[in-house]
Amino acid sequence: MRRAYLFLLLSLLISPGILARQLILTDRDAQIVNAELPVVFCAQIPYISLQQLAQIYKVKTWERAEAAKIVIYFPQREIKVTAASAFITVNREIFQIGTPAVKTDLDYYVPAEPFLAILQQHVSLRLRYKYYDGGSSSYLHSCSAVVQPTALPLVTAPEKVNLSNMLFEEKSNGIAIKVQTTQPFSDADLTYFFHGGNGFFLSINRGICDPLVLSRYHPTHSIEMVEAIQDTESVQLRFNLNRHFTSSVVQYDFRTSQIVLSLYLPLNEDIKSKLELAKNEWVIDTIVLDPGHGGKAIGTPGRWGYMHEKDIVLDIVLRLGALLEKRSDLNVVYTRKTDVDIPLWQRAEIANRAGGKLFISLHVDGVNNTSAKGVCLYLLRPGKSKEAIEVAERENAVIQFEEAKDIEKYKGYDDISNILANMVHKAYMEDSERLAEIMSRHISSEVPQKNRGVKQAGFYVLIGAAMPKLLCELGFNSNRSDAKLLNTKKHRQLLAEVLYQSIIEFKEYCDRTVVKQQ
Ligand SMILES: [Zn+2]
Repeated sequence: MRRAYLFLLLSLLISPGILARQLILTDRDAQIVNAELPVVFCAQIPYISLQQLAQIYKVKTWERAEAAKIVIYFPQREIKVTAASAFITVNREIFQIGTPAVKTDLDYYVPAEPFLAILQQHVSLRLRYKYYDGGSSSYLHSCSAVVQPTALPLVTAPEKVNLSNMLFEEKSNGIAIKVQTTQPFSDADLTYFFHGGNGFFLSINRGICDPLVLSRYHPTHSIEMVEAIQDTESVQLRFNLNRHFTSSVVQYDFRTSQIVLSLYLPLNEDIKSKLELAKNEWVIDTIVLDPGHGGKAIGTPGRWGYMHEKDIVLDIVLRLGALLEKRSDLNVVYTRKTDVDIPLWQRAEIANRAGGKLFISLHVDGVNNTSAKGVCLYLLRPGKSKEAIEVAERENAVIQFEEAKDIEKYKGYDDISNILANMVHKAYMEDSERLAEIMSRHISSEVPQKNRGVKQAGFYVLIGAAMPKLLCELGFNSNRSDAKLLNTKKHRQLLAEVLYQSIIEFKEYCDRTVVKQQ
């Protein structure tokens, strides 16, 4: 159906009635004087025959009929012409000839003026030509006689076209090429070929286009040219790329009725380093260790001649730090390494300033009930149980030792739910929970103390730290068996090792997740 229509259309375009002239061609470089070259008109544009031109120049041609291509071998220059294409190559350089070349059974025709202008510039500087009106019409009849339907240039009537236009959008990371359609296509209609070179080929099954409308020379700085070829069942688009694209996506967008071809540039150094930075933000590489209390803030006092909380936790932190420091992929930061008190707000600030990726605050609890014992891990969240709230209150009470200007800083700290809703903590809560789960598992299996599990409360020391964070109550100084254990180096070393294993397992989990996202 379409083929028959094309025949009709083109019979009108190349009609003997409107053919009248020939060219008189002189090229002193090639010893050609006043050679006659007949002209045929296609859509009122003068075309010349390539075989006749080759005869005048006495140069060879070679045709690849199955690809509808012809090569003309001028001295030092070979010109390739493809039927239905408005582009030719001269020694691989691409030029536009305005309207497509036409193939008949025996010959190829190109638009005279653009083609001869290219010859003048690139093959023969002394080529001159003029039109001559006295040509006989007998030749013209023989030309039209060889025109066959299968050899016609494929120019499509506007009402048949379903690929109407092509738009180009340059973007910082590549280019989007949008082919406007007037009927829906599916992704299955689109096949393409791209291996990162300078040619991209897209075949649109069921596509009908006017190759003159879709073909472009230098449409954007990324694309040298677009060549559209209408086949019987599809449209072939060939893009000659000016830039080195590394990947591509082609899909049909039903909302805009466009075939969207996206070509991506390699990630540039700037984007790479930003990605690297973003990746580093999530890699657990800096661990902040916070031994509670210090100086005159002794924490829960040691009974039975045992150590105070501040000394137990400092000793465990130093042991844990020594293990972590052995690793080349970790940086360890301490809020204190000696027996000094640091305001709670300042501990978080130390952590933030150091670019901490994990904040661990160590404590030992103490209550009136001497039977209470065991290890408990706390997440920063509004306290749920009375017991958890009381633990936080005991730990927060340490601010009574701080100066008035420091105490000012804790205004509003009691409104934990408000703080959590408005700050970055949410982002880190999931990681904090994961660490708590890992650590709790290690405590259950390796620590000969009761595991009281993971709880939540509003610890001031955790509020300011913008990173995953956990507060560990490593036992009760008010319980004799806990206190006795905590006063042995062996047990403190064991706790340090369990914390170390948990931190490493957590780090490995997080780093793996980061790598996956890249
Ligand atoms: Zn404490």
